[in-house]
Amino acid sequence: MGLFNKKKNYIRINPNRDSAPTTKPTVPDDMWAKCPNCKRTLYKKEMGAEKVCPHCGYSFRISAWERLALTIDEKSLIDWNNDLPQKNPIDFPDYLTKIEKTRETTGLDEAVLTGKATINGETVAIGVMDANFIMGSMGTVVGEKITRLFEQAVSEKLPVVLFTASGGARMQEGIFSLMQMAKISAAVKRHSNAGLLYITVLTDPTTGGVTASFAMEGDIILAEPQTLVGFAGRRVIEQTIRQQLPDDFQKAEFLLQHGFIDQIVPRLELRERLTQLLALHQQKGWGEK
Ligand SMILES: [Zn+2]
Repeated sequence: MGLFNKKKNYIRINPNRDSAPTTKPTVPDDMWAKCPNCKRTLYKKEMGAEKVCPHCGYSFRISAWERLALTIDEKSLIDWNNDLPQKNPIDFPDYLTKIEKTRETTGLDEAVLTGKATINGETVAIGVMDANFIMGSMGTVVGEKITRLFEQAVSEKLPVVLFTASGGARMQEGIFSLMQMAKISAAVKRHSNAGLLYITVLTDPTTGGVTASFAMEGDIILAEPQTLVGFAGRRVIEQTIRQQLPDDFQKAEFLLQHGFIDQIVPRLELRERLTQLLALHQQKGWGEK
């Protein structure tokens, strides 16, 4: 019986842990990371701003702000439509509170950041999704921001570069989320009809309704190594078709082999590759039919 009493004392946790001063030496949680690919423990500073595993090249998920810093010229961003009103169309409990909290933690107004910027001097309309914002899910505001990104790109005759990262449609907005797929696709088509270039960069994870619409509609589709790209989840498909899927199913490498994407570009080479593509298409005179 004594054992139980002992255990009770042993697992006691200080309820004021955040506020009580501690004399114990502590290691900040954010100093170390474990690579999900090669399973090695990494000192985060080793990975650099790119957050790439120095042992196996795995690209860790990064925020929209980190992605911008790696991609565009410093201070070149003009943020578009970052103040669209957020609604709760199906009265999902606590939805707006959750949005408000996520805004504070991410520094973003929604799961996509859109605007105009330069990449090595090439002006582009740019969109960057962030999986930290409710899993990069696409609700009405995300749909509207991306639609406006393409519309503004048409009026300014700009190419669009869009980094995707999403869990799919936002369930908290129900059918209104699904409508965004068609709305954005129509805007992509108008941009295409104007003879303008659209490059998508698929980053981990790009899934659900985003994959089934604008992520796969790029004139040129790039992906980072080992990015998860899919519509339905692996288990759902296996249970539906009653077959086991290959190990690399829904990875960028598998999609490249099967002709769904054009090239896999390591994160460290991405800015240079985008610059080449933009410069190449500018010479052909985009925006002119
Ligand atoms: Zn690794």
